Amino acid sequence: MQLISPEKIFRGRNIWSKAIPEIKQISQRPLLLGRSLSTKNLRHKIYSDLQENNFDVHHAILEFDCCYEDLNRIKQIILQNNCDSIVAAGGGKVLDAGKYIGNSLSIPVITVPLSASTCAGWTALSNIYSKTGQFLNDIELKSCPKILVFDHEFIEKAPKRTLASGIADALAKWYESSLTSSKVNDGLVQQAIQISRVLRDQLLIYGESAYMSQSNQNSSWCNVIEACSLTAGLIGGIGGEKCRTAAAHAFHNSLTQIVSNKKPLHGEIVGVGILLQLRLEEMRNNNKLANQSITQLLVLMRKLNLPTKISELGIDVFEKNNLEKIADFTCRDESEIHYLPFKVKKEDIISTITKFEKQEIRI
Ligand SMILES: [Zn+2]
Repeated sequence: MQLISPEKIFRGRNIWSKAIPEIKQISQRPLLLGRSLSTKNLRHKIYSDLQENNFDVHHAILEFDCCYEDLNRIKQIILQNNCDSIVAAGGGKVLDAGKYIGNSLSIPVITVPLSASTCAGWTALSNIYSKTGQFLNDIELKSCPKILVFDHEFIEKAPKRTLASGIADALAKWYESSLTSSKVNDGLVQQAIQISRVLRDQLLIYGESAYMSQSNQNSSWCNVIEACSLTAGLIGGIGGEKCRTAAAHAFHNSLTQIVSNKKPLHGEIVGVGILLQLRLEEMRNNNKLANQSITQLLVLMRKLNLPTKISELGIDVFEKNNLEKIADFTCRDESEIHYLPFKVKKEDIISTITKFEKQEIRI
C-alpha cells in the first residue's frame, strides 16, 4: 500500500482560519503539541483560535527531540484528558512526534508546520531520536496526516535559518533518489524522480531570492517554501519506498551520533551529507559529474549561510574516536548507505570524510 498525501491540504496566506471548520468536523478535544520558544506566540494564537471556536483544547510541550520519553509522556496527557486528535504545530521534530503519537493512539493528526525546514508535515514517517538528539530509527506510520495546514503567514515568522535548512533537505531528494532509483523500471517512481529534478532546479534558481526576501508577498519565497514542505513530501509519497533516501541521510544519521554544541538543524546536516555523498560517488563510482555538482551546490549553500563542512556543524571528526563512530554508524546493517548502487565499506567512509574535511574549498 502506498501512502501518497495528507487527506486534506490547506495552503496559502491566512489559511489557518479556513481549516478550523474542517478540524471541527473530526475533533472536539484536540491536544496542541509544540516545542520551541520561537513559536510560542503562534502556538498561543492557534490555541486561542481553537478555544474561541469552542474546542475543548489541551496543550503539551516536547521537552527534548522526538524521543520515546517525550512520546510516552504526551500519550499519557492525551489519554488522561480524553483528547480525540493531535494538532502538531512546529518544526520537523514536533510534527514527527505528533504523527507518531496520533498513529499509535489511532486518533487523527493535524500538522501545522511553523517553518519550511522539512516535509514532515506531509509524510507518513517519523524519525525517532534519543533525548540528546542522536538519531535512532525511522518508523513508517499507518497513514499520512489527516489534515495539513500550511499557512504562509505562519511560515513567514520562522527564522531564516530554517528556510535554508529546508532547501538543503529538499535538494537531497534529487541527489539521493536519482542515484538509488535510476534503474527502477516503474513509471511512477521515474515520474517522482523527475519531479525531484524540477524541484532541485527551482531551488537552485529561486533559493537565494527566497532566502533574502522572507516575505509572503514574494513569489520566489512562496514557491520555495512550498517546494521544501509540500513537493518534497509528495515525491516521497509518489516514489514510495523505492524513491529512497541514501547516503546524504545516512551521513546525517551518523553525524547526529556526535553531540554538537551548535545544535545544527536536520537540513543543515543533510546539506553536508549531500556534499559527502557526491565525494563518495566520485571516489567509489567514478562519477565525473560529481565535482561539478559540488561546485554548483557550494555557490548556493554559501549564499544561504549553510554549513559546508562537518567542522562547521560543530563536530571535530579528528577528535576522540569520532571518525570511527561515524563510519561505524554509517555502515551498520540497516543504514541507507546500502541503497547506493555500489558497495561502500567503512574504510571508504573514513577516507571520504578525511579528504572532505581537509580539502580547501574554492568556488
Ligand atoms: Zn530529511
